[in-house]
Amino acid sequence: MNKNTIFRHTEMKRPEFEEFIKHTDYAILPVAAIEQHGPHLPFCCDVIIADYLSERIAEETGALLMATLRYTPSFSLRLYPGTVRVSDATFVETLVDISESMYIHGINTIYIFQSHVGAAAACKEAERKLLLSSQARIVNLVLPGIYEAMAKYCKSKRWHSKYVHAEEFETSCVLALRPELVDMSKAVSEYPEVDPLFGSISIPWSDFCKSGVVGDATVATAEKGKALLEFMVGKSVNLIQQHQKGLKDGRKYP
Ligand SMILES: [Zn+2]
Repeated sequence: MNKNTIFRHTEMKRPEFEEFIKHTDYAILPVAAIEQHGPHLPFCCDVIIADYLSERIAEETGALLMATLRYTPSFSLRLYPGTVRVSDATFVETLVDISESMYIHGINTIYIFQSHVGAAAACKEAERKLLLSSQARIVNLVLPGIYEAMAKYCKSKRWHSKYVHAEEFETSCVLALRPELVDMSKAVSEYPEVDPLFGSISIPWSDFCKSGVVGDATVATAEKGKALLEFMVGKSVNLIQQHQKGLKDGRKYP
């Protein structure tokens, strides 16, 4: 297999696909979002990050690269103007249907590459649903290595241990990939107070965060973005290769 070829599902012709599935039975399905990312980043921030990382990972692993899912669950940010929310229930069924239809054609495992944490619960539910009812398999990858990479390359304080949104990390990544879509003159730093019931109650972020940025976007740079992205490519490729090796070695849950 030619390592530098990217096998793009949507651009293939049928004979190319038939040839492809003779030697490879796994795919990458990028999952992003169309949601507000503060005054300085575009709605498609997560799409930019998912597209780039998935392409690089597909190139390194030889996986089939499927089309990015853009309209996805975005519950917490739904009230900010411009955000599109798909319900978890709809999205679970979409993922199950995609996985089962690709399974019929010889794709046994779909690695869902998520750049958007808001879709994580639905992606997990889809994986479990398939485990109980189908031979098709999903493996969920949520920005592998992100927190390690942030500890290494980001300098600002994190707002929350779990959530990263429109701050130094995301802004740096978009500056590295699509700088013309970033308006750094509008970048802000905001550390909203966390309600003790945050997490226990699904409080809309627009209730407590005015700018839509949680953390410091002002210190972002393209150089940091390049380093962060490179780190996550390495981690993700490693996980997929390990998983594929486990499957070949015959482990049931590698
Ligand atoms: Zn984002």
